Amino acid sequence: MTIAIYPGAFDPITNGHLDITTRAAKLFEKVVIGVYDAPAKDILFTTEERVDLVKQSIAHLPNVEVESFTGLAVDFARKAGAQTIVRGLRIGADFEREFEMALMNKKLAPDCELVCLITNPKYQYLSSSLLKEVASLNANVDELVPKTVAAALKKKVHNKP
Ligand code: ADP
Repeated sequence: MTIAIYPGAFDPITNGHLDITTRAAKLFEKVVIGVYDAPAKDILFTTEERVDLVKQSIAHLPNVEVESFTGLAVDFARKAGAQTIVRGLRIGADFEREFEMALMNKKLAPDCELVCLITNPKYQYLSSSLLKEVASLNANVDELVPKTVAAALKKKVHNKP
């Protein structure tokens, strides 16, 4: 079975992430989204909340699952039985970072391949960090994230001290 992991912070999942996930789900028999269980710094949603938002956003994709993970992505890939790591590439900074990380991952796990999918131009400018910034300034983000995420963001931002 061809299995891929798609690791990231997903704080929160956006339509850009969902586009990559949907396309990866056509290339692999199973895709496991790995929500990085990162230390709290700069993270708006807890790991549990991020996993939950991903779960709700991928409910219509039968061959996609979600799990949280700590440590190396290549170890998470091994644990999931995956041969491939999927990442999304936006123009600019993503390339340098992905290239560097791919070389390191290749060193750590030579049998693990990286597949980068080029972003849909519609979501080129979309990052979770910019999304959180504009959402905190009351921007309407309905076209940038799944419905449940938009609602969760509104709630989170308004509950903030
Ligand atoms: P970010 O905070 O930049 O959204 P993540 O760690 O959540 O970062 O991203 C996980 C993966 O999804 C990375 O490979 C990232 O490049 C990719 N990604 C993030 N946003 C988009 C987007 N708008 N289009 C395509 N890929 C994306």
